[in-house]
Amino acid sequence: MATQPFNAAATVLQPYVFDLDREVAEFYRDHPEQKNRIFYIDGSTLPGALYRGDEKDEDDVTEILGSNPALLLNNKTAFESGSRSDLYPKQGYGTVLLNLSKKNQQNLLGYTAPAGQSEAFVFDHETGHLLCEKGLDDNTNLGECVADAYAVLRHIQRFGKDSTAIRTLVGKRAVEMMLGGCGDHFTSPVVEKIIADSQKTDFSAMTPAETVERAQRYAEDNAVETNLLRRMISDFGILNCGAADLVMKGDPGVIRYMADFALHPTVPEEAKWAAIAVRTLLDGDVGIDGVRLQKPVGEEWTKLRQAIDARTTKSSQPQPKLIIVSSL
Ligand SMILES: [Zn+2]
Repeated sequence: MATQPFNAAATVLQPYVFDLDREVAEFYRDHPEQKNRIFYIDGSTLPGALYRGDEKDEDDVTEILGSNPALLLNNKTAFESGSRSDLYPKQGYGTVLLNLSKKNQQNLLGYTAPAGQSEAFVFDHETGHLLCEKGLDDNTNLGECVADAYAVLRHIQRFGKDSTAIRTLVGKRAVEMMLGGCGDHFTSPVVEKIIADSQKTDFSAMTPAETVERAQRYAEDNAVETNLLRRMISDFGILNCGAADLVMKGDPGVIRYMADFALHPTVPEEAKWAAIAVRTLLDGDVGIDGVRLQKPVGEEWTKLRQAIDARTTKSSQPQPKLIIVSSL
């Protein structure tokens, strides 16, 4: 018997659309203890709407901003540059200032990721900073690892273990570290480990509290050692002076420099992350500071891709360990 049109339509998966009202309501449903501790402010307009527990009030935001000058400043910053989270211990609350306007799209999952998934990721990342105990740790890199770990677990719970959008994040964080010269957001080893484990562990079965606890543990167990991070920042320091601009203009020197590291036989950990960064740049799907990095085209880059892939395959048996997640 032929399928009835209404039945067929009902089985078609609708694309996920991010809805802040719905997400905040679900967050308080899953974490009722956070109703007076984490507030959300829609920072895409000024002053923005305030979500506090079960209330959503546009006048309330003026009052809360008026009684907290630091929050007022941070809200303005979010309006201009993007989402953030802040904790105000004296006032006894934290705020997630979300700015998901087109202008401020952070594209952490790459430009080709579905917009709704990217928006949900930013929501989860900023929430993770406040929800997890070490989300705003004095060790900034650990705090970022916790926030990304939480957001990656939530992404897998929301969109399934085979979602491809999350995989670009491993390379995106490596590119940021190398071209941006700052290790704070270098969460790649943590993200990579969660993605690998998602194939054998059913993260969708975890409760909200277990998800928080597991995110924390993933971050603490897999964040890169401070010494290695410091060494990488120093080794790639030469790229800090406008390297992102050069990649945008299609300057091959920067990628070649990173490729030398990627193919280097004696620095396995750095080689691994350099290889992942180069492969990500060759895919042309990521940006820095909101500007998309130009995809290098031509025979030279095809050869480089093959060289990195060959090296990866060859060295994946004994050592050094080189796993290119972004190409999966
Ligand atoms: Zn963060």
